[in-house]
Amino acid sequence: MLRLARSLADSLADFVFPPFCAACQRRMPDGQRGAICPACWDGFPRWEHGSCQRCGGTVPAGAAAALCDACSMPDWPCAAVRTPGPFAAPVSDAVHLLKYSDRRGVAKALGEMMAAAAWVDPAYAAADMLVAVPLHPARQRDRGYNQAQLLAARVGEVMAKPAPEGIVTRIRNTGTQTALDRRERRENVSGIFLVTRPDAVRGRTVILVDDVLTTGATIGSCGRALLDAGAASVLALAAAAAPLS
Ligand SMILES: [Zn+2]
Ligand SMILES: [Zn+2]
Repeated sequence: MLRLARSLADSLADFVFPPFCAACQRRMPDGQRGAICPACWDGFPRWEHGSCQRCGGTVPAGAAAALCDACSMPDWPCAAVRTPGPFAAPVSDAVHLLKYSDRRGVAKALGEMMAAAAWVDPAYAAADMLVAVPLHPARQRDRGYNQAQLLAARVGEVMAKPAPEGIVTRIRNTGTQTALDRRERRENVSGIFLVTRPDAVRGRTVILVDDVLTTGATIGSCGRALLDAGAASVLALAAAAAPLS
């Protein structure tokens, strides 16, 4: 209900008043348009340099994936993961606006934070291209766009790397996975991605982009498909990370 009230308030404000910040509800500064105010963006909690990309904890020396022992995902096909910080306000508000309120503009700020989080890792800086985790075509038709593709496109602009669409498709619509445990989620998403342009990824290092890292099952399944299609390496990148429950 609060979400609905917020999105209604946003829409009304856009018509009648300068827009309000979706995170702090204050009026946006003059001349500033967008869903999240600069003060909220500045206050976004970011991981300390070198800390776990899911919980912010200590990463053992030599751990390649940038995850602590508790957050590591056995048999995860991605060589590493980077996220700017936790799935908390205002990034959680921004992701929600991006996914459910048709506020595509927030992809710009999110993508810039993701690029900053990726640049510090030499493997990401040297990667060949970005690929977004695709939505099922029916879901994308409903929403009108794939939020992960918007993020990948912005990261690609900042990092000067291509972010082509149409490399991977989702052949099965899995619906929400919130009621499933980690093992069930992994089985639920196994084999749901098909690489339709293996020529585009063969021998390449791919940064695989999604909005939020949750269990990692969906990103992992898509990463597996890319590796099976001949990608040299897959590096995951998300706008935020949820704790592994
Ligand atoms: Zn704000
Ligand atoms: Zn951790």
